[in-house]
Amino acid sequence: MIDSYGRRINYLRISVTELCNLRCKYCMPEKGINKCSHKEILRIEEFLKIAKSFVNNGIDKIRITGGEPLVRKGVLTLIKGISRIEGVKDLAMTTNGLLLKEYAKDLKEAGLNRVNISLDTLNESKYKEITNGGDLNKVLEGIEEAKKVGLTPIKLNVVLVKDFNEDEIEDFINLTKDHEIDVRFIELMPIGDLKYWALNKYLSNDIVLEKNKELIKIENEDKSSPAKYYKLPNGKGRVGIINPISCKFCENCNRLRLTADGKVKTCLHSDDEIDIGKVLRNGENIDDAIVEIIKNKPKEHNLEQGNYINRTMTAIGG
Ligand code: SAM
Ligand code: SF4
Repeated sequence: MIDSYGRRINYLRISVTELCNLRCKYCMPEKGINKCSHKEILRIEEFLKIAKSFVNNGIDKIRITGGEPLVRKGVLTLIKGISRIEGVKDLAMTTNGLLLKEYAKDLKEAGLNRVNISLDTLNESKYKEITNGGDLNKVLEGIEEAKKVGLTPIKLNVVLVKDFNEDEIEDFINLTKDHEIDVRFIELMPIGDLKYWALNKYLSNDIVLEKNKELIKIENEDKSSPAKYYKLPNGKGRVGIINPISCKFCENCNRLRLTADGKVKTCLHSDDEIDIGKVLRNGENIDDAIVEIIKNKPKEHNLEQGNYINRTMTAIGG
């Protein structure tokens, strides 16, 4: 479906849980979040019904995210169901990778095409620090397993954090020399309770290109993707730069987000939400609601004016 600003809206990100087995410093407050009541969280069959309606209305690309999607009971059933909806061309997941070794094969068999894995450091003790206790080796094993079963192309999401990982940019880039993976550097966004932490630790992505002059710009076939891509000479993988802050990409934004408690967000940086879970539970027409949602997707966000949202990232899904 085309929205009021001529954008083709074809991408839905579904956050299947707001819970997580990590506490990344920029995403999840150490004390945890104010959890929704169990009743408010959509059941797997409800996610499936809503996803079907979105696909009826032009969505052909779906990403499963969270919180950590692999801690949600029934996630494999959901993936199996979504992969069978006619019209879904791409089904991906964003995960912290901790449980990937265990789940990769089943995910592939359920119909998942590929995974993005979040990894901000290649150093074991720094990983423990930024995630508040995570085990880097589990993530590395998860990446290997994902490769083995063909959940590819694999993309690594690296959030740039000042005074934390700028000294590892080159190490991450070097991973693309011999491996067919994309390493994507993402600017820290001020979101929810942790917005001040993020503002303090923000680092512009410009540093990646300034420090690595040998990177060669390449065309990104996916015009709606926020990533600009580069390559090392003879590199097997790509280096992506995603600048939500220093370079906004609202003009090409093709995405909608469904939260675990049944709200649709038409813009990551707006607190406006439409309660599609309620529409479903009240037996109202979901297709009509979706048409209205797409029509009302805002033109752009106003982050630069300091309009930061309240919902934490773990309850949105990135
Ligand atoms: N738990 C999964 C994971 O970490 O991949 C999926 C959910 S997580 C919220 C999705 C993505 O959002 C991750 O790549 C994470 O690094 C990113 N993220 C979280 N908070 C962020 C922030 N404040 N700014 C930029 N990216 C953020
Ligand atoms: Fe959990 Fe992902 Fe947020 Fe880290 S970024 S706390 S892994 S939801």
